[in-house]
Parts: sequence; structure tokens; C-alpha cells
Amino acid sequence: MAARRSVVLWLGVALLQATDVVKHFPITGGVFGREIERVHAVNGVTLSVEEGEAFGLVGESGCGKSTLGKVLVRLLEPTSGTIRFEDRDITNLSYRQLRPLKRRMQVVFQDPYASLNPRMTVAQMLGEALLFHGITDRAGAPDRISELLDMVGLRPEVRDKYPHEFSGGQRQRVGIARALSVEPRFILADEPVSALDVSIQAQLLNLLEELKHRLSLTYLFISHDLKVVQHFCDRVAIMYLGRIVEELPVVDLDDDVRHPYSQALLGAIPIDDPDDRQPHDVLEGDVPSPIELPSGCAFHTRCPQAIDRCKTERPRLVELKTGHRVACHVATA
Ligand code: SF4
Repeated sequence: MAARRSVVLWLGVALLQATDVVKHFPITGGVFGREIERVHAVNGVTLSVEEGEAFGLVGESGCGKSTLGKVLVRLLEPTSGTIRFEDRDITNLSYRQLRPLKRRMQVVFQDPYASLNPRMTVAQMLGEALLFHGITDRAGAPDRISELLDMVGLRPEVRDKYPHEFSGGQRQRVGIARALSVEPRFILADEPVSALDVSIQAQLLNLLEELKHRLSLTYLFISHDLKVVQHFCDRVAIMYLGRIVEELPVVDLDDDVRHPYSQALLGAIPIDDPDDRQPHDVLEGDVPSPIELPSGCAFHTRCPQAIDRCKTERPRLVELKTGHRVACHVATA
């Protein structure tokens, strides 16, 4: 695994900011195709990703983290809220207005195979991105392609191969090379290693870490795996049913995590020496449907520490100390 840096707190310049971002998906039905229900995927998220950091977004499947990521890079339209990138409001920019910005915000997906054109060789894919965005001209493309391949640890000979000729880890390297080809500042990495074997995961995380320093990149790193985030990120936000329930520096995860849901996620991580870990409640039950969110604190149906107030009153995110926010009536009492 990539070594985690000993950064306690980020007080840098915000590169990407979300304010009260909501994303709901209408479900239509009946003869007139009216909206009959709504999937409440993201329910008012406010966060700030600082320049040069790796910001982790963690939660169980269906918590809205991938939807939030896509909304933040405008792959999905927000239902409401504001998104700023490089201190510019990008919430309502048209595709044309977004184009120059999109070059600086790239995405690495979980399944590179789905995002790579199966009929194009690596050189064609990278060359297309380089020329489309005017990074280089036709004459300069071959050298830049070689540089990109070298940067992600692939040999120059692979340039004439097609995606199906690579292993999963190599394909992800091609996906990373393609993202880097347009010289981004910000990368949304959506579960970039979760489809890979553990040994390959470590290599890819090391590569992402190295590229972060070498190219001064900023990451929004989405994962269901708190352990991966713990090793890779500087700060982490934990999501439950479309809301952030806790945000804190990663170095505080082991000793200062306060939200019962975060504690349960942490308690589920296998560790080498069980004596090293404080006991945490085990998470039981399934995540409720995002179509009908529970009243009050959305976690109250599974929370071992719930009190009466939790069923009726939704807890606000409260700053316990600089850089540490928690949404829980009990933890902030
Ligand atoms: Fe549990 Fe209540 Fe805190 Fe929600 S507000 S996490 S239900 S104790």
C-alpha cells in the first residue's frame, strides 16, 4: 500500500467546493409518465477539496458517493446546490463552457474496460485526447505518448495493443495515462482499484501516490474500503444515505472517530493485531431505501446508540474541532 503522509490537517486553497449539493432521480410511471417517486441519492452535501490533497469519500454501496462524484465533475446535473472549481461557479455551465475546465478535471473509473474504446489502440486513444485538446500536434504526439506510458509504468511497445490485450491492472494504467494525457489538476478516482487483486491494488495506489506528488495532482478518491482510504488519503468524508455524517483528517481515524456509523465501518476492517483496536459496534441490517429515507437521523434504524430524539430530528454537521465535523446528536452532545 502507498505510505500515508503524516499530514494532520489541510488548510490549503479550495480547488473544488460543493455547497448543499442535492441529486435526486425521479421515477416516473403511469400513462402520463408523471413522477411517482424519487431516489434521494445525494441530500445536501457541503465539502471542500483542497489543492494538492487526496480527499476520500467512503460509504457502503448505495450511499450516493459515486453519484456525488459524478455531479461534482458535472457528469451528472445537480438537482440543486452549488459547485465551484478553481474558484468559478460551474453549476450551470453549458457543455461548451465546461469543455476547457473538463480538461483540468479528469475521471478514473473502477472499470477501465468500460471506459476504453475496444476498437482503438492505446496510441490511438492517447493521440486522440492529445490532439483534441491541443496538448501537442501530430508530430509531437508519439513522444508524448511514450512519456505518458512511461509515467504509468507501461512499456512503449504496448502502444499498438487494444484494451482486451491487457490485464486488469495494466488496463487501469492505460485509463490513468488517458486521464493524464490532458494534463489535469484534479482527478476523480471512483473505486479505481476495487476490481483488482490486492497485490495489484497496492501497485496502483503507489502509482497514484507517486503521480500526485510528481504532477501536483488533487484527488477526490471514492471507495467503499476505509482501509484503502486510510492508506491513501489525507482527509476523509464518510457518507450515509446521501449525506456526509463525519469528516476528519485520516490520521485521526483510529483514535478520534466519533460517528457510530464511522465507528462501525472502522470496526469492520480486518487488522493484524486485534489488541490494537478499540472495540466498536458491529453494523447490522441493510441500508434503508433511498426512495423513502428514514425520518430524523437516517442512521437511526441501525444505530446502536440511538436515542428518541434521533427518530425525529436530523442532526446537523457540527464542527467538533478544526477539520473534524460530525452529524450525530450523541457524539456532539
Ligand atoms: Fe445514532 Fe442518533 Fe447519532 Fe444518528 S444521531 S448516529 S441515530 S446516535
